[in-house]
Amino acid sequence: MSGPGIPADGDHLELADVAALLGRDDPPARLCRHLAAVCTICGEQLRRAEALMQRFRHWNPEVAVVEGLAADGLLDTLLATGSKSWASQVEKEADLQTWGVAWAALERARAILAREAEGHALKLALLAAKIAGHLGTVYHPDWIADLKALAHAAAAAATPPSNADSRLRQVAAATAALQKGTGDQAVAQEVGELLARAFGGSAGGRRAEEPTVRHNRRRRI
Ligand SMILES: [Zn+2]
Repeated sequence: MSGPGIPADGDHLELADVAALLGRDDPPARLCRHLAAVCTICGEQLRRAEALMQRFRHWNPEVAVVEGLAADGLLDTLLATGSKSWASQVEKEADLQTWGVAWAALERARAILAREAEGHALKLALLAAKIAGHLGTVYHPDWIADLKALAHAAAAAATPPSNADSRLRQVAAATAALQKGTGDQAVAQEVGELLARAFGGSAGGRRAEEPTVRHNRRRRI
């Protein structure tokens, strides 16, 4: 059983292997894609890694995979506690200070915003902004700024009109962060849409009828 041979059945690439290979310039990334093309199981791992990169919108596959896989579980555990302690837990627990957890919180805030339930969306958007403020130097500052811009813009969109001062503060924070960000047009457009919603007056207690009809029509696809 010594010497090189055809790998045994258990010798496929692990998801972490795929992420590590994908994160390096050629030839490792090319090698990884080639393995994925010739092996079904490794191909499935590559698709999982790429799906995590797409979902968490992070250029580094290792960040997307390692933090992405853990993010929902960490966020669920945090959310199961009372929202009043979220901020202090983020300050204390380094596990929560990741791009993945911040992104998952922002994702949920925006999903709830889309269903017109601003109260909970506001808490989640503020949580995402809070985590973004605690991201360490392993993350690129321009990317952190993009994340902050989206989180503050979502918070602005979720703040009721009756709290105009707070909403303006979120708008100002989103605008300032966007100016420090990567300049990604897609981010700028999403921030713009959220801020338009903040100024559109549909946030808060009043039920906006037209947007609901539009959402329903879109859901039917
Ligand atoms: Zn394989």
